[in-house]
Amino acid sequence: MQPIHLYNSRTREQEELKPISATDTVTIYNCGPTVYKRQHIGNMRRFLNADFLRRTLLLLGYQIHDVTNITDVGHLTQDEIDEGEDKLEKEAKAQQKTPQDIAKYQTELFFQDIDALNIQHTDQYPRASEHIQSMITLIETLLANKHAYITSSGVYFDISTFPDYGKLSGNDIKNIDAGHRVEVRNEKKHPQDFALWMIDDTHLQLWDSPWGKGYPGWHIECSAMSMEELGETIDIHTGGEDNRFPHHENEIAQSEGATGKPFVNIWMHNRHLMLAGKKMAKREGEVITIDTLKEKNYSPLAFRLLVFAHHYRSPIDFSWELLDEFQGHVESIKKVLARLPLSNWKKGGLAPSEFVSALQYDLNTSKAFAIFLETIKELNKALDANNTKLASQLSSQLLNMDSVIGILEPLQKETMTQTIPDPITALAQDREEAKKAKNYMRADALRQEIAQQGYRIEDTPQGPRIVRI
Ligand SMILES: [Zn+2]
Repeated sequence: MQPIHLYNSRTREQEELKPISATDTVTIYNCGPTVYKRQHIGNMRRFLNADFLRRTLLLLGYQIHDVTNITDVGHLTQDEIDEGEDKLEKEAKAQQKTPQDIAKYQTELFFQDIDALNIQHTDQYPRASEHIQSMITLIETLLANKHAYITSSGVYFDISTFPDYGKLSGNDIKNIDAGHRVEVRNEKKHPQDFALWMIDDTHLQLWDSPWGKGYPGWHIECSAMSMEELGETIDIHTGGEDNRFPHHENEIAQSEGATGKPFVNIWMHNRHLMLAGKKMAKREGEVITIDTLKEKNYSPLAFRLLVFAHHYRSPIDFSWELLDEFQGHVESIKKVLARLPLSNWKKGGLAPSEFVSALQYDLNTSKAFAIFLETIKELNKALDANNTKLASQLSSQLLNMDSVIGILEPLQKETMTQTIPDPITALAQDREEAKKAKNYMRADALRQEIAQQGYRIEDTPQGPRIVRI
């Protein structure tokens, strides 16, 4: 097991990861999707970054226990509570479906998307709707600890009882106060007090609680599921930078208010993916999904590479030109795979030490990516020079690097299933017949003709195989 240093958003310093568990199992909670609409590529950046973290820890020899929640109950941010709007419910009404139907369908799409991006599945995907009881228990503890109070509209967390409130986001409560209207309707003591439970019997998704029929607040879901699945204190909690406040600030207040113990040792937040200078958001302008990429003939793996090539704490200025560049990388990697199929790559060995150390210092994936590309180039040169010994060494290094980058296997599949145009297949058949008739001149001429059209025939023990050059 090798050390890793990660930037902790709470202390604003790089810290060495010291797993709580004696068995060096790292516990990780990733804030998951709210399944009322298709996730866009800005959301997917978050899950890709969590995947790079997971794979890096595995490469370094750690064990992992990780969880990604699925928010399938009404997702209410504070503003929406004030305005009484619930995205999942709104979508359900618009589509004349139940919120459960929408959530189920969107959850399936979410898994399709992460599979298209070759994101490893985390150990668990708890559904908020299946953990209501643990949320209620947690709220009861907070009431008993005097961190929460009941009004006619629900149960609220009293932030004045938690002096650390604002530490993660660097928000001063006094500043938050300024310009905020006091909610009379909710009878809150402080405008920033947030809902743990909303009493509302008109909501489409309803559960019984000691305070009346209603539904949980969004923040309590993550506290309850993280503690239930991973314990009261965990090693790493990930999310997007927009989750820092209020979501993660509230998670800390609730969890630490209930247990009196630290909730998370290292908070990791990735920066946004920007489109034309703005954060990609459902309510504003263009939203790009994995389907959009496919429709435009991009490989989702080109997007995976694009995200890998950017450090998670730098914003990404997404553009089609930028994606073109990474589609280009994908094509050149496919060419290498056509020259040397993955089954012939040498297993074993290690990733280059500079690749590993780049990742050990706060997941410097952009540096790691440059090393990967350079090694691909070297492999091409080694193949050109028929230097099989070097080619085998380099292929082994690339395989190890790819345990984190995660593109070779799916790209190999794409290469194998690439459709070959009929005229090329016909030329290849003519060539086979010419070979059988021992007309080697004609066979060679046909090979050249095929090459001119951008394809190459490889004679394998299973017969000839056509690959795109
Ligand atoms: Zn969360």
